[in-house]
Amino acid sequence: MQVDLFSLFPEWFDWMRRPRHLTNAELELRAFNYRDYTPLPAGQVDDSPYGGGPGMVLRVDVVAAALEAVYGIAAGSVRAARPVVVMSPRGRQLTDAVVRELAQAPALTLLCGRYEGFDERVHTLLASDAICIGPYVLAGGEIPAMAVVDAVGRRLPGALGNRASLDHESFSPELGGGTEYPHYTRPATFMGAAVPDVLLSGDHGAIAHWRAERLGPGPAAGA
Ligand code: SAH
Repeated sequence: MQVDLFSLFPEWFDWMRRPRHLTNAELELRAFNYRDYTPLPAGQVDDSPYGGGPGMVLRVDVVAAALEAVYGIAAGSVRAARPVVVMSPRGRQLTDAVVRELAQAPALTLLCGRYEGFDERVHTLLASDAICIGPYVLAGGEIPAMAVVDAVGRRLPGALGNRASLDHESFSPELGGGTEYPHYTRPATFMGAAVPDVLLSGDHGAIAHWRAERLGPGPAAGA
């Protein structure tokens, strides 16, 4: 999968070239700076909001110029070629189902906002989707985009040694959307806390039963 990130701080994504699950995955990451493509003489990327109010708004013409320069086609046509996803508190919530859906795409473009966010026409004219990582406001779309790349990346071919572990994880349909059972490893006893006997028993049926009983309810039940 080719993932293109657009941001005012593209270098923040450099660390994503290090973790093994991402370097092993069939994933090509590119990060672009809106500022490198702005058509405005002073290198401006934002402006004050029409109607007044605090903060600055990222300009639609600047985002369009960046998309056009990178893809070599009209900015409004990019979303016909690949999903163009705005990171936005107004987007759909990132869930396991959304991660699985995004992981199917051959390519992905993620637009990171800053300040008060994007001019609305970025959503209506340029983007095909918007994603929110949770009901709280971050200063920018970079961390939300990292969450998307991390979660989608580990579902790509090559990312994890054991593909089966992807199908029986927290929030997966296989676990009924709930959370996984607790894990233990050596030492068998630590600060007086012993590993449950059943896990040392070698009785696979009993272990499966013990684990099934300890699946968590998942986010819906906790909400
Ligand atoms: N004024 C906006 C918040 C802007 S935050 C509002 O009240 O909704 C600046 C940028 O950070 C946004 O454009 C978006 O790209 C990103 N961002 C902040 N919180 C986010 C979240 N929960 N999910 C996804 N992106 C978020």
